Amino acid sequence: MTERTFSIIKPDATERNLTGKINAVIEDAGLRIVAQRRIRMTEAQAKTFYEVHKERPFYGELVGQMTSAPVVVQVLEGENAVAKYREIMGATNPEQAAEGTIRKLFAKNVGENSVHGSDSQDNAKLEIAQFFTEDQIVG
Ligand code: ADP
Ligand code: MG
Repeated sequence: MTERTFSIIKPDATERNLTGKINAVIEDAGLRIVAQRRIRMTEAQAKTFYEVHKERPFYGELVGQMTSAPVVVQVLEGENAVAKYREIMGATNPEQAAEGTIRKLFAKNVGENSVHGSDSQDNAKLEIAQFFTEDQIVG
């Protein structure tokens, strides 16, 4: 089934000029970038976005990292887009990520791991709505 997922190219990646290389992995996997915008995430946006992790020890570091440099927010579309993107992103910790995955190729460490991808269709819808209106998504 064709579905959508939400992606962020994180500050550690935009700082190293990796947007195009990451987009190439996304497109080579058959996912279509149907919306994309480069933004500076505000502290409020980062805190809301990662609210589920607010009790975790790394929450402050994570919010700091997400607001440290520009990010690229994206909507990706394709067959089983949520699961497919999780697969090509690789494990959260790049040391555990499979060969050829974005995190294996580019991530610096478990915190600065280059990309975010939604973990369910419900979260994808909620995350997309935080950054895009329906008319900004052109499938
Ligand atoms: P994922 O991004 O793979 O869905 P999580 O939802 O568990 O992973 O965590 C959200 C983000 O928080 C991670 O992508 C990473 O940037 C950061 N993070 C997760 N675990 C750690 C950790 N142990 N130390 C530092 N940062 C972490
Ligand atoms: Mg997650």
